[in-house]
Amino acid sequence: MQTEPEVAVLRLGHRPGRDERITTHVGLTARALGADRVILAGQASSRADTVLDITDRFGGPFETETVESWRPIVRDWDGRVVHLTMYGLEVQEVEAEIRDAHQADRQPLLVVVGAEKVPFEVYEWADWNVAVTNQPHSEIASLAVFLDRLFEGRELDREWEDAEKVVIPQEVGKRVEAPADE
Ligand code: SAM
Repeated sequence: MQTEPEVAVLRLGHRPGRDERITTHVGLTARALGADRVILAGQASSRADTVLDITDRFGGPFETETVESWRPIVRDWDGRVVHLTMYGLEVQEVEAEIRDAHQADRQPLLVVVGAEKVPFEVYEWADWNVAVTNQPHSEIASLAVFLDRLFEGRELDREWEDAEKVVIPQEVGKRVEAPADE
């Protein structure tokens, strides 16, 4: 079976104090909705432990990487780059082109989300600047919608490996178990 080309998410512009939970949720959303890796740049690195802890408990594979500077990651990315921004092209207009290019060239796709003002280089270096509506909202929401469009919903059915805990879906209530032995 052919393996899927990598999808990585880069979180840039983390503001200490203000963005702690948002950066954690970018990592958790990337993991839950099918990305292979989150890259936490600069001060966003402080949230790596929480994302790693969730991966330890609920499974993977999912990598959490920390880097000092985001610039070399975007500038030198060996593949295509999508920057999520309210100023970009509508996701519904470009999603098929992005999916087709990603499947055709089999290169890693980098999805960049910002916090406050994103430096203009990112707009220039990106292969696509993509808007999930042209309305201002959040990096978590735009990442979730974009990944779901990219994977066309397949991420909802993924299997998790090496989990300590598995949630058993319930109509009402909570049930969490250790995974059954293979
Ligand atoms: N002015 C920013 C922009 O360029 O989208 C909004 C800042 S918003 C607080 C933080 C991040 O959320 C942005 O860097 C972007 O990645 C994401 N974001 C917010 N609204 C978005 C939208 N409508 N479409 C895509 N991404 C969005």
